[in-house]
Parts: sequence; structure tokens; C-alpha cells
Amino acid sequence: MVNLEELEKVKKKALEDHIPIIMDDTLEVIKKILEEEKPKNILEIGTAVGYSASQFARFAPEAHIDTIELSEERVKEATENIKNIGVQNQITIFLGNAVEILPTLNKEYDIIFIDANKGKYPIFLEEGIRLIKNKGLILADNILYKGYVLSDYNKHKQRTAVRHLREYIAKAIEDTRLESQILEVGDGLAISRVSK
Ligand code: SAH
Ligand code: MG
Repeated sequence: MVNLEELEKVKKKALEDHIPIIMDDTLEVIKKILEEEKPKNILEIGTAVGYSASQFARFAPEAHIDTIELSEERVKEATENIKNIGVQNQITIFLGNAVEILPTLNKEYDIIFIDANKGKYPIFLEEGIRLIKNKGLILADNILYKGYVLSDYNKHKQRTAVRHLREYIAKAIEDTRLESQILEVGDGLAISRVSK
């Protein structure tokens, strides 16, 4: 049983700690996708404190979720949170850099959720295409990055991230294996159906 009270506590603390957890309207879209697709295997890149992974476990009770997180401290907190929420049997956390971990994975996933370092999104998409099953879905959060991606002017600080997010969008649209939509929910969500 998913402990919704604990889940709400994790959300509240994450927001207090300024951890960029998935936004409510984005989660609403993903909830519908999970209910329709009924995935068995989900891969998440960017666990943070385990909030989105726990929500996915809640809305896809048949699914196992592999999730990758770079920060040891966050992995510790996520492990604790996931246990308190009661979804530990559904979730496996990998500690490390997804750029290094992804090439070592060989499972086939029904859904892949990208939600980590924006500068690495094109690499995550490449690895995602390799790991997704035929007709599976690759989702990428924060794809419009506070509107910066659609803006002509960007501060130096955001420029590299913006360049890589635009590269992701271009590939999502141009690669004939991908059928993509870019939604303006939350911080922007890319949804690509992959034909292999
Ligand atoms: N999916 C979470 C939020 C993730 S925030 C939720 O909605 O609840 C992004 C996380 O990605 C951060 O915790 C950050 O440490 C992690 N991250 C950034 N770059 C990464 C990388 N290259 N590999 C693995 N994790 C990474
Ligand atoms: Mg995000």
C-alpha cells in the first residue's frame, strides 16, 4: 500500500529544500499515460529524493522502476523516503552518473523519464532510444526550461543548457523513429513514441 500521507510529506519537504520535483500538472499528464500504457518497466534518470519515482509506482502498480541519481546524499534520502512511502519493492536506485550507468543497462523499458542534467539530454535521448521497447515512450521534463528554450535572448548561465534542450527537441521532431509532442505543461514535457 502506498502511504499517501508520507508521499505528501516528501513532496512538502522537497519543495522546502528547493529540490526541483515534478510539477503537479506534469504529473497529471504522466498519470494518464501510466494508466493507459500500463508499463511493466520504467527507467527514470534523476531520482532526487524519490518523489516522482514513488508517484510512478503509485500510478503504475504493476511496474518496476529503475532510477539513477548522481548525488549520494540524495540517494540516501530517496531510499529512506521510498521505504516510508512503502514502494521499496517496486523501485531500484542506481547511484552514479547516468552518462556512465546507461551504457551498462540492457533491460528493455516501456517508459523512460528523463529529468536530470539538461546539458546531457541529447545523450540521454540517444541511450533512451537504445533502451526503449518498440512503441515505448520517452518523456523529458523541463524541456522548455522556464521559457528560455523559446526565447531569443538567454543569459550566459543558461546558454549551454538551452542549446542542448533545443538539440533534443530538433531530434525529437526530425528523427523518423520518433513521433513527438512538446507540451507546455509545467516546465515543458517532451513525449516521444519510438518505432524501432
Ligand atoms: N525526478 C525528480 C527530480 C529530479 S531533479 C522528481 O521529480 O521528484 C534532478 C536530479 O538529477 C538531481 O537530484 C540531480 O542530482 C540529478 N542528476 C543531475 N545530473 C545527473 C546525471 N548525470 N546522472 C544522474 N543524476 C543526475
Ligand atoms: Mg524536472
